[in-house]
Amino acid sequence: MKKTTTRTKAATKHDRQPKSASKRQTAAVKKAARSNKTGSSSIKHETITKVSAAKAREMMRKLCDLYPDASCELKFSTPFQLLIATILSAQTTDVAVNKCTKTLFDEFPNAKALAEADLDRIKEIIKPTGYYNAKATNIQNCARKLVEKFKGEVPKTQAELTTLPGVGVKTANVVLGEAFGIPGWTVDTHVQRLSKRLGLTANSDPLKIESDLQKLFPKDDWSKDSITLIWHGRRMCFAKKPACERCPINHLCPSSLVV
Ligand code: SF4
Repeated sequence: MKKTTTRTKAATKHDRQPKSASKRQTAAVKKAARSNKTGSSSIKHETITKVSAAKAREMMRKLCDLYPDASCELKFSTPFQLLIATILSAQTTDVAVNKCTKTLFDEFPNAKALAEADLDRIKEIIKPTGYYNAKATNIQNCARKLVEKFKGEVPKTQAELTTLPGVGVKTANVVLGEAFGIPGWTVDTHVQRLSKRLGLTANSDPLKIESDLQKLFPKDDWSKDSITLIWHGRRMCFAKKPACERCPINHLCPSSLVV
């Protein structure tokens, strides 16, 4: 199925990259995946070695070169649909969410429709994403509040977004960055893990990590850098057995298993 997303500045820029860059990325990721299957090493005792801002930016530049097409992997056509998909993505994969939201958005494409939907029908559709009782209630209450307080439109500030049921800072920043092109860090499990491994933060609290990342990188790049770390976490810097042998920043990363 063809992906339908609201275009962002970062995605548009990435789309202009030459195809050869994508091929290089695909080849590198395949090599990494092969290496990970056969490798036995893992980062058992993670110690955090903070790196300089210059080194942090050099590593990020190389990762952005590796993933020139990095973008949100949730499927959506409107800011409302991205908001709902992001709420549903908690504790599951984007692939699982995309399978459910096709039906969900066909039946309830906007806030008004979801606000008036039968709750049991919502639960039935989103069941494969897990925690479906709580998620169904959250997304319907979110839709109702959008209708009651925001005329059915998704607000464009973190402060307003986080007043919605089921929406925290992470979800708000995904929506702001991907739907509206407003820079923000998405501190999910991958960004938390990679920020520590790369020596970008010594903190564990997502808000403190976000603050550290904000100081290290230019504001205009925050959304692009977020999704780049997420892609690297999904494709190479795995939680278990990271593919350091094939990682293009293994000579810079303080957690590398090969230097
Ligand atoms: S060298 Fe290893 S730990 Fe460091 S970013 Fe690459 S895959 Fe992750």
